[in-house]
Amino acid sequence: MSSLQSSPLSASSDADKRDNPMSEIHVIVGPMFAGKTTALLRRINSECSNGRNVAMIKSSKDTRYAVDSVVTHDGIKFPCWALPNLLSFKETLGAEAYEKLDVIGIDEAQFFDDLYDFCCNAADCNGKTVILAGLDGDYMRRSFGSVLDIIPLADTVTKLTARCELCRKQAFFTLRKTDETKTELIGGADVYMPVCRQHYVNGQSVVEVTRTVLKSCSNVQTDSCLEEVAVV
Ligand SMILES: [Zn+2]
Repeated sequence: MSSLQSSPLSASSDADKRDNPMSEIHVIVGPMFAGKTTALLRRINSECSNGRNVAMIKSSKDTRYAVDSVVTHDGIKFPCWALPNLLSFKETLGAEAYEKLDVIGIDEAQFFDDLYDFCCNAADCNGKTVILAGLDGDYMRRSFGSVLDIIPLADTVTKLTARCELCRKQAFFTLRKTDETKTELIGGADVYMPVCRQHYVNGQSVVEVTRTVLKSCSNVQTDSCLEEVAVV
């Protein structure tokens, strides 16, 4: 490997990057509201302050907060590329700018079907450090997208937790509050809540009670509805 670097003729920047020990893959997973985007931005900002060239990518499917920024639930922002897939990134950015990149951040990684190939290519062939954040499981606790496929490729895996919305214990799972059954339903606290194991298991009945109460609220006066809730 070192012979590549010692020859000025063969020392293309691609070869340099391949031998660059900074080529890494880091995975941040967890349920919704666990601070995954915040952790990702913290790491990207720290890479920035170390003088490394960074770019952030998010899925163009998620336009909840802003189209051209990654935004945390508490409003911290970072400019990003909103793309339908990852393999279009190099072309969108331009080969020269891609070459100069050291670190690529990917938010909401579960939405990218080409995540595995992109990460392999970026870290193994192009010498990039990839830091990605995403949901490990969907609302049914099934593997979501290709995020878990990246674990065998990764240097580090961090599983973050949220606070259970019902008991404030550690929350590992995301419960969907609505009847919608498609896997990709983009929403925030109106649709999802983080829950502990006990409340995930009891979740469907809790959601059912909430729905019934809300339904009766829309039919009767608020005061009597509150009384009803109190009696229940
Ligand atoms: Zn709980």
